[in-house]
Amino acid sequence: MKKTEHPDTRNLTSWVEISESAYASNLQFFRRLVGPQVELSVVVKSNAYGHGWLPISRLAVKYGANSFCVHSLDEALQLRQAGFGQDVLIMGYVPLGRLEEVVAHNFRLVLYNRETLEALIIAANRLKKTVRVHLKLETGTYRQGIDERALPWFLEALSQPGPVQLEGVYTHFANIEDTTNHDYAFRQLEKFRAMSQQVRRRGFPEVRQHAACSAAILLFQETHFQMVRLGISQYGLWPSRETFVSYKIKHTENGEDVLRPVLSWKTRVAQLKWVPAEQCIGYGCTYQTTRDTRLAILPVGYADGYDRRLSNQSYVLIRGKRAPVRGRVCMNILMVDVTDIPDVQLEDPVVLIGSQGSETITADFLAGLIGTINYEVVTRINWNIPRLVVP
Ligand SMILES: *Cc1c(COP(=O)(O)O)cnc(C)c1O
Repeated sequence: MKKTEHPDTRNLTSWVEISESAYASNLQFFRRLVGPQVELSVVVKSNAYGHGWLPISRLAVKYGANSFCVHSLDEALQLRQAGFGQDVLIMGYVPLGRLEEVVAHNFRLVLYNRETLEALIIAANRLKKTVRVHLKLETGTYRQGIDERALPWFLEALSQPGPVQLEGVYTHFANIEDTTNHDYAFRQLEKFRAMSQQVRRRGFPEVRQHAACSAAILLFQETHFQMVRLGISQYGLWPSRETFVSYKIKHTENGEDVLRPVLSWKTRVAQLKWVPAEQCIGYGCTYQTTRDTRLAILPVGYADGYDRRLSNQSYVLIRGKRAPVRGRVCMNILMVDVTDIPDVQLEDPVVLIGSQGSETITADFLAGLIGTINYEVVTRINWNIPRLVVP
């Protein structure tokens, strides 16, 4: 395998580093967990949760993922245009007028609307090609899905000779990562088993089943079936604290963390200045200095995905030390206090998410400060910021 070199970041104002060794370690962990037979499908929707769909998809293939799951047709097309020949499951809505593109590129499509099936048959016949669908079964999430009353119509329509092939059935858990009580998830699992049995008996004995997102993969072997949809945890993040705790209770023998965060977000010091005591910093004068303050200006703001609610709350790492954010986070700029960090220089590297020295800022920590989840923190890092693979 080709060895990854450290990229040159000297002339970048802000960049995201993707650790190849961390990603490889996570993917290999999940392969061991699901075994060699299960289709390991990586979810790379929303720019691979902000990690960069192209570098992540390359690493995923390199380290043994079998296929991709995306939300939209456009995400699927990006993968094909970049040369990925693996199966791609489109899990979100495709407008009826664009179903021919699904057929033409041989994507797998989620199916839950009658109208989509009818239009898909017409599109496939026109192109004289077949197309594979995965029925989304309603088991209690009430997002997209086919309930028990509607299922017979789909099975009847799909048993007719035609270009649309039923390849899979799947469901998605509503309440598996937000709790340590998994009763609701198990009721969904039972319902999924019963509905899949019905599909199998009604003429589709070979249909593939999948239900597991990261939390289910980590916690319950019985949710793996023939395929899993691995999202957040391929990136080394836990779906939630509850999932982490539940996992730890089940795997007491394992002392260290099995997941390694893949993403770091960095910038550089753009200006250094001394500010006297009792001066306001930033818009709205929300911070006032209490002493002679050494201030570092950083070229990152909420437009870059550094949430404005982190104003006066979070800190960044410079020279391995914590530098607190002072005043409001601006659109493209933020200010941090480096008075207690000796010898900070212009263009010193700054860590917004990640480690420096013995300090670490996690996506979970920032998520906690602003009342959201790690998924949102990493996904909203502006997609135009370069994503660089590091060893
Ligand atoms: C996003 C998504 C996943 C991945 O979930 P994670 O918690 O990130 O692993 C799986 N299945 C469906 C249907 C999804 O939309």
